[in-house]
Amino acid sequence: MSFGIDFGTTNSVLAHWNGEDAEVLALDATNLDDWNYPGFASLFPSMVGVSSVRDRVLFGWEAKLRSEQAVPAAKRLLAGDSDIMVGTRSWPASTVSAGIFRTIRDRANSEQLLDVDTAVVTVPANSAGAARFRTRAAAREAGIRADSLINEPTAAALYYKQQIGSDALENVVTFDWGGGTIDVTILEAEEGLFEERAARGVAQLGGLEIDQALRNLVLAKAKHGPQGFAEEAAFVRDVELAKIRLSTESVVAVPSPGGRSSVEITREEFEDAIRPIVTKAIGPLQHCLADLDRVPEDIDSVLMIGGSSQIPLVRQMVGEVMGDRLVSADVCDPMTAVAQGAAVAAAINSGDLEIDLAVGTTHALGTASTRTDGDTEIRSFSQIIPRNATLPRSQERTYRPNRPGQKRLGVEIWEGDPADPVNKKTGADNGSNICLTELKIDLPAFRDPNEASFTLTYTYDVNGLLEVRAVLDRTQEVLVDREINAFGLSTTGVGVSAASLREFLETQPGLPSRGSRSVAQTTSSAREEQEPKLRPSLPGVSQVLEGSASEPRPLVIDGSNLAWGSQNRSMGGQPTLARLHSALEELRTQHPGTELIVFVDANFRHVVPDEEKAQVDREVAGGKLHRVPAGTVGGADVYLLDIARKKNGVVVSNDSFSQYTEYHSWLAGKGRLFGGTEVSGIWAFKERRPIR
Ligand code: ADP
Ligand code: MG
Repeated sequence: MSFGIDFGTTNSVLAHWNGEDAEVLALDATNLDDWNYPGFASLFPSMVGVSSVRDRVLFGWEAKLRSEQAVPAAKRLLAGDSDIMVGTRSWPASTVSAGIFRTIRDRANSEQLLDVDTAVVTVPANSAGAARFRTRAAAREAGIRADSLINEPTAAALYYKQQIGSDALENVVTFDWGGGTIDVTILEAEEGLFEERAARGVAQLGGLEIDQALRNLVLAKAKHGPQGFAEEAAFVRDVELAKIRLSTESVVAVPSPGGRSSVEITREEFEDAIRPIVTKAIGPLQHCLADLDRVPEDIDSVLMIGGSSQIPLVRQMVGEVMGDRLVSADVCDPMTAVAQGAAVAAAINSGDLEIDLAVGTTHALGTASTRTDGDTEIRSFSQIIPRNATLPRSQERTYRPNRPGQKRLGVEIWEGDPADPVNKKTGADNGSNICLTELKIDLPAFRDPNEASFTLTYTYDVNGLLEVRAVLDRTQEVLVDREINAFGLSTTGVGVSAASLREFLETQPGLPSRGSRSVAQTTSSAREEQEPKLRPSLPGVSQVLEGSASEPRPLVIDGSNLAWGSQNRSMGGQPTLARLHSALEELRTQHPGTELIVFVDANFRHVVPDEEKAQVDREVAGGKLHRVPAGTVGGADVYLLDIARKKNGVVVSNDSFSQYTEYHSWLAGKGRLFGGTEVSGIWAFKERRPIR
């Protein structure tokens, strides 16, 4: 059976070759609720979630629609985040993703009576080696052998070509606009093989940014913003669903936050709001054409892939550049073409489908070889099987040990791009390169390294399974003959452990405590009057908290700003999470029992030192830091000020806020704004007045 899986950052899709067609398999249709929208039953959100009314981690639509905390797992895995906070516990990203693969496999079994034991899995174009490795490791742990990975654009092109069965098709553009990024690729068919000739993209430009634009439209018409986290989560979903409906309806009523009334948004208003975003997404398309010195007339077909490319304005604007080359969604379904192409690839590989198409390797395979230049050893990628090789393929190359008398040899198996480095250890990131594993070879005694020369043969079978054989040239003795199928912890240290997956699937996740964050609890003044509470004594700034009815005002903290401390940006300083922690600690000491709400900018993980990035992600996932959506106009400030106003809080920041003082006049009130100064790790906080 030939299966294809699109392991997307927002949605995953499973397809199989049924002998005639690449058929999409619904996995989770019963959990769709009011999202039962055409085609959505084919999708399986790549998410995990936690709900207080369920005793297991939730996956797919349940995670997306019914959890109180939802985490996009595939995205985290591909980005190389080591841990993900699910509820109150943190898990390796590969284990969480293996959980998604396992759920896909289980559902295929229970809903479709199909056993998904092998599959061609797609990864985004240009996925770094480590991302590919982690994807295979996660699938493998879930019981799915994903030896063959192909890139998303290649998969889409394969499916389309299989659909139309035309020989003439040579130049294809895939315009793939999903939830998080836009990826444009130009592919050219050479002897039945698609090669990705140019690829351009913009990260953090996708459905989420479009949601944000619509959200702003709705909020401009609604009386209130969402209050509290439950309302916020519901509003986020309502906005996304409204966006999706606007692709086919001309006017949509969006429930306003809190759900007591609704706001009408017309297609026209929506299009005006998102035009700048769509214009940005057209950029990579023009860039790609320019890279290859092509004009639209050189292109045969444009495949519109991904959810966001279903927006009529997007089709219209791409059409303005590419003319009538856009392929209709009936022929190439934007949501499923990638998975269907993967199923076609699997069918071609296994011989279930005989057509004039080939699946090529997306990356070269080789080993690391070392040569010495004076005192320095220079390691490089020694290619054995090139990129775009069709399967099956067997190729060899001869090597000899570096040192005389060497008894053992480590032969590293590398996959990637021969131009990139092969420095770091197994499983680590080396640009596009990844060391799949290292084989130990025992050498017979020899004096001259030439005597110990051996031939290394890589054989890639039709399923994308790699066999490595080393034969001593002098005697033809077989030194190694092995299938490279280990993507597990035991060989690499970066795989997924079976025990961890089992525990993850069986665990009863706890929710991070939410009570303290509930807006409704702290702003209900009527309740406060009835039940006056004792206020904890507040050293330092207690005086400014006077006037608040009973509870101390929460501190709403500009984390990105405090992370700079007294560092001078123009002097090349760097914000750090550690500095932010020290500030928070001091605030906690000064204000025991006070709620701290910490905001950081969308790019915070990118500006802190490398070693802190994973911790930032954990704290964001765990709700300790609130990261605002990418592309928020005005950065974290706009959310921070909104929340501070609604929660009647005290803002802690050194920002001038000059452009906001008109709207947020309360900031100038007594005790509403605090600044901080750090001197050698010691913080002092004092009241400020915003600068006009
Ligand atoms: P990914 O490739 O990131 O996994 P998808 O291609 O599944 O993502 O696209 C998901 C995004 O597309 C989401 O932001 C979703 O809201 C959006 N989307 C899905 N369907 C539509 C539609 N009909 N119109 C507009 N946006 C849509
Ligand atoms: Mg996708």
